[in-house]
Amino acid sequence: MSTSPATPTRGVLLYSGKAKDVYATEDPSRILMHYTDGATAFNGVKKAQIDQKGVINARISAFFMEKMASAGVPTAFERMVGDRDQLCKRVAIIPVEVVVRNVIAGGLAKKLGLAEGARLKAPLIEHFYKSDSLNDPQINEETAVLLGWARAWEMQAMREYALRVNDVLLEFWGGLNIDLVDFKLEFGRLPGDVSGATSVVLADEITPDGSRLWERGTGRKLDKDVFRRDLGDLSETYKELYARVFGARLT
Ligand code: 5GP
Repeated sequence: MSTSPATPTRGVLLYSGKAKDVYATEDPSRILMHYTDGATAFNGVKKAQIDQKGVINARISAFFMEKMASAGVPTAFERMVGDRDQLCKRVAIIPVEVVVRNVIAGGLAKKLGLAEGARLKAPLIEHFYKSDSLNDPQINEETAVLLGWARAWEMQAMREYALRVNDVLLEFWGGLNIDLVDFKLEFGRLPGDVSGATSVVLADEITPDGSRLWERGTGRKLDKDVFRRDLGDLSETYKELYARVFGARLT
């Protein structure tokens, strides 16, 4: 068993993403995920710095990851370190993004020429190949398995976990009079035990960057579409969302 030091420190930069940087720690089985204020849209074509976004997203994601662990969805998240870093188990990210949709919007509306806003009869799960250079093309489960990106049982586990996450999020956001339209999840593999088996855990983040959240009654968008579609001030929107989630303004 590995032990994590009381206060892990950032080692080498392992990966620099659009809104997060990932650092090694003293413990080879743990990383620090650092949330920046960077925002991008359209695969990096549109970029901005959004005041306090890193702090807001780190705290919101930590809050949801803890909820998911309580609901029986294993996660890579361990704990917050400071106000925008998270200590996480080191995983190998499975290059398949899992999108769950409750309402027609975004890419689904565009692809099929549908109006946004109609509720689906049941949650729809879609899969995308995680590839910036290809713009995350949609794939199906067979493609992921046949091309060796994930095993069939891993795809099944990801589907079950994604639906459980959806149940928890629907209930939480519904309690705040917010409709959860859709969201994206990423999963990772933990290193295996001596038999070589590995297990799938929820990784990355659950934030308004990767979700669509519409205020009930007004339809007002409380997510990154505010930035993607130039609908207002994303920092103010996220600060308001933070206050709704935690019952107090960010200080
Ligand atoms: P869509 O396929 O409609 O563009 O996205 C569906 C949902 O997944 C939205 O909530 C969107 O925010 C999220 N999503 C899909 N791909 C990405 C991505 O590459 N980055 C982020 N942050 N969210 C994504």
